[in-house]
Order: sequence, then C-alpha cells, then structure tokens
Amino acid sequence: MAASRIDGKAFAASLRAQVAEGVATVKQRGLTPGLAVVLVGDDAASHVYVNSKKKACAEAGIASFETLLPANVSQEALLAEITRLNNDAAVHGILVQLPLPHHTDAQAIINAIDPAKDVDGFHVVNAGKLAVGQDGLVPCTPLGCLLLLRDQLGRLAGKHAVIIGRSNIVGKPMAQLLLRESCTVTVCHSKTVDLAAETRRADILVAAIGQPNFVKGDWVKPGATVIDVGINRLSDGKLVGDVDFTPVSEVAGAITPVPGGVGPMTIACLLRNTLQAACASAGVAFPL
Ligand code: NAD
Repeated sequence: MAASRIDGKAFAASLRAQVAEGVATVKQRGLTPGLAVVLVGDDAASHVYVNSKKKACAEAGIASFETLLPANVSQEALLAEITRLNNDAAVHGILVQLPLPHHTDAQAIINAIDPAKDVDGFHVVNAGKLAVGQDGLVPCTPLGCLLLLRDQLGRLAGKHAVIIGRSNIVGKPMAQLLLRESCTVTVCHSKTVDLAAETRRADILVAAIGQPNFVKGDWVKPGATVIDVGINRLSDGKLVGDVDFTPVSEVAGAITPVPGGVGPMTIACLLRNTLQAACASAGVAFPL
C-alpha cells in the first residue's frame, strides 16, 4: 500500500497562523516580537532565503530588521554588529544567514549572539541545553521534523529512530530531540559500515545527507515513517530530497515529500522561536 504523504506545507501554514495569533495577543500587551537577519555577501540563494523570511515575518506580524554586509567584511565588524543587535531591545531573535565567507569564524560569530536571542538554536549554550534536557531555543529544522512526527504518530516513546547525518544543524539536534521523546536513537553518517542494515530497523527514518535520492526502497522497513530533510537541485532544475520518493513510498507508512515536507516547517519554526524568545525576554507566557 502506498505511504501517506505528510503535508508539511499545510502543517506549517497552520503553525504560522497560530504564531500570528500569538503575536497579536502579545502585541496587546505592548510586546512586538522582532527578528534581525544578518546577511553577508551576495550569494543569490541566501538572498532568496532572507527575503522569504522577511515576508513570513510580515505575515505573522513580527518586525524584521536586516543587516547587509559586504563579502569581505572583517570578523571584528561582524562581531560589532552582533553586539549592537544583542543590545537592541526591539530585537528578540538574531539569525546569521549561513554559510559565512571562509575568512570568518562562523562558530565564533554564532557564539557571540546572546543565547536568549539565538532563534536558530546553534549557540553552544542552546546546543548544551538540548543535550542535557533543559529548555532553550531548538534548531528550526529538527524542531519542524519533530512536530510533524508527533502529529503523525502521537507518542514516540520506544520507537527506533534512525537518523542519517550528524551535522550540528540537523542530525545531532534531531537525535537529541528524539532521545528526549524516549526513542531508541541510532545516528548514521558517512563512515557507517552497513547503512541499509541500520535503516531497515527504523520505525522512524530521518534523512539529512545532502545527496539526491540516496535512500532506496529496500532500505526501509514496511510501515516506517520517513522524514526527508534533504533539498537537492538536479541539473534539470528539479528539486528532490535525499530519499528516492517513489520506491520508498511503496514501502513506508508515511513520508514527507520534497518540496512541501520539511522545508516549510523550518521557516514556521523560526517564527515560533522568535515569538518564544520575545515572550521569554518580556516575562510573558508563551502562548503556543
Ligand atoms: P551536512 O553536509 O552538514 O551533513 C551531511 C551529513 O550526511 C554528514 O553528517 C555526513 O556524515 C552524512 N553523510 C554524507 N554522505 C553520507 C553517506 N554516503 N552515507 C551516510 N551518511 C552520509 O548537511 P546538513 O546541513 O545536515 O544538511 C543535510 C541536507 O538537508 C542537505 O540537503 C540540506 O540542503 C538539507 N537541509 C534542509 C533544510 C530544510 O529546511 N528542509 C534545512 C537544513 C538542511
């Protein structure tokens, strides 16, 4: 039987509507959540991402601020801009659009952000909080995956989750989040010896690799829930995930499509995190 499609686009739209409602509520108490985006250089894809974030903020009633810096900006000038935003009371979330130019130290820039404003959840303090089970700001993409999984499966405790990928942005925080849900978690990566043997044991399979159509139909346990984080553009311009969608759909119980699966959840969770950070800064209850 064909897997059901997990409609991330529809789920994200409803989350964005909830965030907009929450923003309207806190505005009545004099709090306007604000998100600052720092963009370095003129990478076309980064400009597209930043513009869609600005548009999403406007739709949710969140104020957005943008800092554009030249590709040859110094580490010191970048750090000075982060300090300025840390001290700006109208800014509750700071996002540095990645990748940064090679001559800069991206982790040092991220760690200069006030952890309370780190809406990407990449600061070492937020990564540590996630690892030890304290509340903090959680990276948007794995948070979006978790919300889809909870919606699809309800209680996740006891399920065997296999994650392919161990990046700080997706794979590692995804593993921490699923451990927090009491899943049994296996993290695979480029040095895993028999990847298909690992993935075949998964009730929940999360692919965050960055290789088109990498996960094959016979790597998946019948009925498994498959979350495809990958975004890969083929030479003909088509966008595909890390999962070979058609054959995997014939085996899995449920699967996220690309596009329209995890991607829309990332921006929705960024808005959610900005509202959460604004509420925390003002001592207002987080309405979501
Ligand atoms: P990354 O390059 O930092 O990490 C990729 C991971 O895949 C690594 O840990 C590596 O060990 C693993 N890997 C690579 N080749 C492998 C192989 N042959 N076998 C097993 N594991 C292998 O990438 P990332 O930032 O984690 O992103 C992964 C994918 O997710 C990319 O396609 C990216 O575009 C996409 N992504 C999507 C969103 C979204 O909003 N949907 C957000 C972030 C990333």
